[in-house]
Amino acid sequence: MADRNQGPVQTVVVLGGGIGGVSAANRLRRRLDRRHRIVLVNRDPDFTFAASYLWVMSGQRRPDQVTRPLQSLQRRGIDVVIAEIGTIDPATRTVTAGGTEIAADHLVVSLGADYATDTIPGLQRAGETFATLAGAQLLAPAVDAVRKGRVLVVTAAPLYRCPAAPYEAALLIDATLRRNGVRGNVEIALHSAEPAPLGVAGANVSAAVTALLAGRGIDYHPSHQITAAEPGRAGFADGQSETFDLLVYMPPIRPPAVVAASALASTAGWIDADRHTLATAFPGVYAIGDNTQLPLSIGKPLPRAGVFAHGQALAVADNIVATIKGRPATAGFDGHGGCFIETGFGKAGYGSGDFYAEPSPRVNIRPPARRRHLAKIALEYNVLRRWL
Ligand SMILES: Cc1cc2nc3c(=O)[nH]c(=O)nc-3n(C[C@H](O)[C@H](O)[C@H](O)COP(=O)(O)OP(=O)(O)OC[C@H]3O[C@@H](n4cnc5c(N)ncnc54)[C@H](O)[C@@H]3O)c2cc1C
Repeated sequence: MADRNQGPVQTVVVLGGGIGGVSAANRLRRRLDRRHRIVLVNRDPDFTFAASYLWVMSGQRRPDQVTRPLQSLQRRGIDVVIAEIGTIDPATRTVTAGGTEIAADHLVVSLGADYATDTIPGLQRAGETFATLAGAQLLAPAVDAVRKGRVLVVTAAPLYRCPAAPYEAALLIDATLRRNGVRGNVEIALHSAEPAPLGVAGANVSAAVTALLAGRGIDYHPSHQITAAEPGRAGFADGQSETFDLLVYMPPIRPPAVVAASALASTAGWIDADRHTLATAFPGVYAIGDNTQLPLSIGKPLPRAGVFAHGQALAVADNIVATIKGRPATAGFDGHGGCFIETGFGKAGYGSGDFYAEPSPRVNIRPPARRRHLAKIALEYNVLRRWL
């Protein structure tokens, strides 16, 4: 349908109702007049804020406090479709979801990452993860019940979502055990598959996080890849094994299955997109957030983090709006972002900077402080109460 004065009516389809998808849909809705349709497709009816999962694990939040129904976007004029996306055809910008075909003039793909826990035999049965809301909920009483023994925190591969999360997990477990007066009876060890904490952010950030762990008496074992687990015992790539009373893990990730099966799949199944415009090789198709693989000058990809998914969503939405309005698409994601590092006892550190800087990311880390913890609470409020 064409409108002589305002151009043809357009449909923007956003795949994924997580950080990137909700950010993109909201921005589009705010900036496009209501003639244009915005459709958001997600498999789960609820949005959950992953950055609060660790607070669920440490008993500071109930699951319902970090969950909002995606349907609440309807009242803003966003069509919400709750369905499993079965196929994506980027050449025709059509997707199938719940057996229905949806056609887009502009398509934004923000489908996150799937967990690949099955790549470490026995891990799922022997341990529990804070990387899902259900896992964090199970961990809350398990951590609280620890009275003695050994807690093992592992990153199960060098590639995972949110580089800070496993380090925060160890610090928050330490805080819970100290609060319960049992820390003296419990050893906490963190075994990471990567050579240093938050390595992509630079040596200063790695050193600061390593010092935080040491200051709390957490044994840190970098470059120590878990390869298998059974109840009470974890095996590592160097042939060593470690016993534990509680195993807590950050799972490896793989591209979302529907992305990997589509023509969008590129490097190891992730989506290659321009790191500034997030445009893919297919006209009118953009990819943002965890399902992309965006190169940094240091040879590693941009970390998977909500702050980046959000920034990318705004740039993509603005360029789609400009295109629809017949204006030049000049917005770009500049690689800036920051992330809180919760340390317990009502404090958080904050690492932020320019991840696109040359020749390497320029990132600063600020020490734990009460005001940074309060800033994270404000962020959580903003996302859960204002976005949805
Ligand atoms: C424990 C934890 C703590 C974190 N803390 C922080 C933090 O403090 N700061 C930060 O910046 N980042 C943090 N992150 C990372 C952040 O949550 C992710 O980077 C962010 O959610 C990525 O946004 P996204 O839109 O790319 O993907 P997601 O938010 O994962 O959204 C993807 C959506 O697509 C849906 N989907 C996938 N496949 C299909 C399909 N076939 N059909 C229908 N729907 C589908 C999924 O169900 C999901 O709702 C954390 C992550 C974890 C696990």
